[in-house]
Formats: sequence, C-alpha cells, structure tokens
Amino acid sequence: MIVGVPKEIKTREYRVGMVPAGVRALTMAGHTVLVETNAGVGSGIPDSEYQRVGAQIISSADEVWKRSEMVVKVKEPIAPEYERMQPGQIVYTYFHLAGVDPELTKTLLKKKVTAVAYETLQLDDGSLPLLKPMSEVAGKMAIQVGAACLEKAHGGKGILLGGVPGVRRGRVAVIGGGVVGLCAAKVAVGMGAEVTILDVNLERLTYLDDVFLGRAQTLASDTESIARTVRESDLVIGGVLIPGGKAPKLVSRELIGEMEPGSVVVDVAVDQGGCIETCKPTTHDNPTFTVSDVVHYCVANMPGAVPQTSTFALTNTTRPYSRKIADLGLVEAIKSDRALQRAINTYNGHITYEAVAKDMGYDY
Ligand code: NAD
Repeated sequence: MIVGVPKEIKTREYRVGMVPAGVRALTMAGHTVLVETNAGVGSGIPDSEYQRVGAQIISSADEVWKRSEMVVKVKEPIAPEYERMQPGQIVYTYFHLAGVDPELTKTLLKKKVTAVAYETLQLDDGSLPLLKPMSEVAGKMAIQVGAACLEKAHGGKGILLGGVPGVRRGRVAVIGGGVVGLCAAKVAVGMGAEVTILDVNLERLTYLDDVFLGRAQTLASDTESIARTVRESDLVIGGVLIPGGKAPKLVSRELIGEMEPGSVVVDVAVDQGGCIETCKPTTHDNPTFTVSDVVHYCVANMPGAVPQTSTFALTNTTRPYSRKIADLGLVEAIKSDRALQRAINTYNGHITYEAVAKDMGYDY
C-alpha cells in the first residue's frame, strides 16, 4: 500500500502522524511511505530520519495526498485539505466529526473517503486506546501549568506545591479520577502536594487508593465533598468525563467565589464543555483568565504544547492499526478487528457511525 504522511497545517499543530519507527515497520513489510518535507520537524524529527528508514520525502502536500492510498495524520482535515482528498482514499486521523465543520463530513461522503477516526476506535471493554495517551499528557501537564499559575507573577497566590520543611504544602483537588485524574495526581503527589481525588466510581476510588498507598486522599464525589474540598484547595483540576456527553458542571461560579484569591483551576475537561462553570476554552497563546481572583487555565488542546512527547505517545498507539490496514487492506483489517471496525466513521459515501449520523441529522 502507498501510505502518505502530510505535514499538519492547522495553526500551532506541531505533531505528526507517523514517526520513523512506524515508517520502518511499513517499508520493511514492502509498503511505500511518502512523507511531506518537514512534516516531523515540529516534533524534533528531521527529514533525514525518515529517509534513513526508507521513506520518500515529497516536497508538495498535493502530491502526498494524490499518490497515497492511505493518509495518516493527527488533526482532522481542514479546508485546504478537502480538495486534496482523493476518491476512495483512506484517511486515518482524529476527526471529531460531530463537533467540526459539517463541510468536512460532506466532502468525505462526496468523495467516498473512508474516515478511520482515532477517537472512536474502541476496544471491547469500552476503552478508547487512541484517546488515552493524550489524556495522560494533559493530566501530567495540568499540574505543571497549575503550579506555574500559582506563582505570584502569573496571578497566583504565590505558593509552592511541595512546600518546604516548616511550611504547609500546596493542596490539590483532582475532580475525576480517570486517566487525566490519575496522571495529575501522580505528578502532584510526586511534587509533594497534599492531594485529594474525587470520583463517583467507587471501584475506581478503590484502585486509586491501592495505587497511592495513602499518599493521596480519595473521596466519593458529591456536591458536599466537592464544595468542601474546592474551598480548601490551592489548585483544582477538572478531569471528569461522561462518555459521549457534555461534562457536568460540578464547580459553580458561587463556589469559585469562595476560593482564596490567587487560587488556580485547570479545567482539562474544557474540550467537553468543562466541569467548572466559569471556564471557557482558551489557547496556548493566551491560556489564562481570572474570575473572582481565581486564575483559570482552560486550554482545549493541552498536548499541543509538548509535541515531541505527544507525537510519540500518540503514534505508539496508532501504529499497529495503520500497519494492519496496510498489510490486510481495509476490508480484511476491519473484519479481523472489531476495535478498528468501530473507528470507521464514513465509508463509500455513507456515515457508518451512529453518533456522528445523529449529530449531523443524517439517516443511519
Ligand atoms: P476518563 O473516562 O478516563 O475519566 C473520567 C472520570 O470522571 C471517570 O473516572 C469518571 O468516573 C469520573 N466522573 C464522572 N462523573 C463524575 C463526577 N460527577 N464527579 C467526579 N468524577 C466523575 O476520562 P479522561 O481520559 O481522564 O478524560 C477526562 C477529560 O479530559 C475528557 O473530557 C477529555 O476529553 C479531556 N481531555 C482534555 C484534553 C485537553 O487538552 N484539554 C486532553 C485530553 C483529554
């Protein structure tokens, strides 16, 4: 199969869809890989690294798209890429079709492109392995950025999360103990903060309690426990997820007003509407704003700030599936792998994923 890796063109997107290890696996199996010039530079991968493992470096995005049977990307195609998509082509990337420009879906249908969406590739246990690495990155970053926001120069109250001997440590509340929450708590505990994790899932709390061996407090999440913990915290991380739905507003505007001035909230769940009432999406260019003297960090694509880590984390999980499609062809690959089957959002001019069809008002 001919597999293309174009350079991402969305503003400030520095990740790339395939790293040299993925290219090597494909070329050794007899496939052809076309990589656009400088596609990996934002992630610290020069063209020479791709060439070394057998990729052809192509100077024009048009040519990469035109010649490829499968295109492997990171972000959903944006307007200039619509016309580059070829009839019958496979595009393997994040799509988030329910939330993006309806024109993208129309183009996929018109050109009979097969959209293989990272975000709906789902294992039988319901987990979403191609979303997990980005949650891990965002969870770990949440404490890093939260600690910086707590510094006086960034509008914070001027507290060091780990404290020093004789001085109290910073208090961190992590609402939602899933992938984001676990990673945030690990970093916060590692920095020496006093950490409380709140979740509605008691089995998950048991797991977290076992993992942290008493170094983090676990609490059943309800209105009371959230209010008490948030009021006392220096840093609050929002990491809840209701699969397929909007995040519930668990921290009200009123509760934000009861936090000490200079406290910080990082709402990682902002990409699903946020779980803190006062949050609105921000960007890496202008990541914070203040409400009731509380610093808010609500960047919707946090992993974009650390493209080297994010690219390798993402491609570690996407690689086996692109290899499977290249080796077996789309139809056989789907037949042999139900997780991959669930990733197909459009095929041969039809929407093949129920939630996307409903959201777009199409028949399913
Ligand atoms: P996850 O499913 O692993 O964890 C979510 C947790 O929230 C679960 O443990 C669930 O039990 C818990 N929860 C649900 N309702 C709750 C409530 N009322 N109180 C407390 N806990 C509750 O999800 P995840 O992978 O950790 O993702 C969390 C959020 O972070 C998602 O919205 C995801 O899209 C988002 N995210 C954002 C970025 C970013 O850049 N901003 C990056 C990655 C992920």
